[in-house]
Amino acid sequence: LADEIFEKRKKFLGPSLFYHFQKPLNIVEGKMQYLFDESGKRYLDAFAGIVTVSCGHCHPDILNAVFEQSKLLQHTTTIYLHHAIAEYAEALASKMPGNLKVVYFVNSGSEANELAMMMARLHTGNLSMISLRNAYHGGSANTIGLTALRTWKYPIPEGEIHHVMNPDPYRGIFGSDGAAYARDVQEHIDYGTSGNVAGFIAETVQGVGGAVELAPGYLKHVYDIVHKAGGVCIADEVQSGFGRMGSHYWGFETQGVIPDIVTMAKGIGNGLPLGAVVTTPEIASALTQRIQFNTFGGNPVCSAAGLAVLKVLDKEKRQVHCANVGAHLLGRLRSLQQRYDLIGDVRGRGLMIGVEFVTDRKEKTPAKAETNVLFEKMRELGVLVGKGGMHANIFRIKPPMCFSKDDADFLADALDHALTKL
Ligand code: PMP
Repeated sequence: LADEIFEKRKKFLGPSLFYHFQKPLNIVEGKMQYLFDESGKRYLDAFAGIVTVSCGHCHPDILNAVFEQSKLLQHTTTIYLHHAIAEYAEALASKMPGNLKVVYFVNSGSEANELAMMMARLHTGNLSMISLRNAYHGGSANTIGLTALRTWKYPIPEGEIHHVMNPDPYRGIFGSDGAAYARDVQEHIDYGTSGNVAGFIAETVQGVGGAVELAPGYLKHVYDIVHKAGGVCIADEVQSGFGRMGSHYWGFETQGVIPDIVTMAKGIGNGLPLGAVVTTPEIASALTQRIQFNTFGGNPVCSAAGLAVLKVLDKEKRQVHCANVGAHLLGRLRSLQQRYDLIGDVRGRGLMIGVEFVTDRKEKTPAKAETNVLFEKMRELGVLVGKGGMHANIFRIKPPMCFSKDDADFLADALDHALTKL
């Protein structure tokens, strides 16, 4: 069956789709943190459909919310009133600090960042946007310019988007000195723009870029610099939000800042297509003279799912759970690091973890081929992880947030076994 599907995919789906494994894997069922293939083999899912299945595959509360809303009404758009979108917007706004109280709903992370970028430009009257090297913010017309993964070789729109040094404590030239990286932002503003900027955007942990946590203090310095240049600061919480980081509900809180605009998607809907932008009334007012419309954004069914996600994460105390299980898993991975030279870095917090493989610890030479072998071996052993980073030498471990301590041990044991075999 898998081969048959693979043939159809090759014939009828775009050739640019990339496939994760050497041998096709056909997933037919999901239950919380587990996935099952066509033969009934169980996999521990440590990647959650790219950090999207936050509560768990087919979580009963989410299913129920979706089902009940679907029976009643599936779609109208925002040209009529509907309770689901209003109730959900209120609940989401209550999770935000400061004056972040106005919510816009969209369908994806790319759409959320498109809208955030437009807001920044309308509000400030400036055009220049700043994003970090190694960032992923989307694949749409404008966000592709914010995305700065140079190996992807996209035609980046010229001008008005500046990619500054990413403050990577492991690979960056300034180590953990957040203030030093921030100076690069000032230089780009001074030498690359008229001195006025529209906005700065960053993931609070670089996701696709390889679970890279920003050097401490970085965002505080940068937000100051950007505000002085007339710009607004956008936090992309598409991967890091909703308590996954354990220590904080939002990634930006780990840096002690409050953004002007926050974008969300992926885990917000546990797999349903949903995204959101939350901002202040002042910035939102820049849109009031224009129509901001999105046919599916805040659709009743997706709103019901989004609200159910918030309730489940609270009811099941997932943020604390992520902190505890994450700490345990990081401990296990760090002890593997002491035994295997191939592990150059273990980083992250909560259930947002990266393991970087290198062939030479001093030179930090990316162990691309070895990572691939380990990746395939993990699958064989029944564990699905993500792969990322500029050199595809990083395991990304971002499971559904119901991932247990036993699951963490299972994953660590599998990695230990795979490393022994290598
Ligand atoms: N921002 C971040 C941080 C992401 O990881 C992604 C997707 N990988 C996006 C934005 C874009 O989201 P989408 O694929 O839903 O458009």
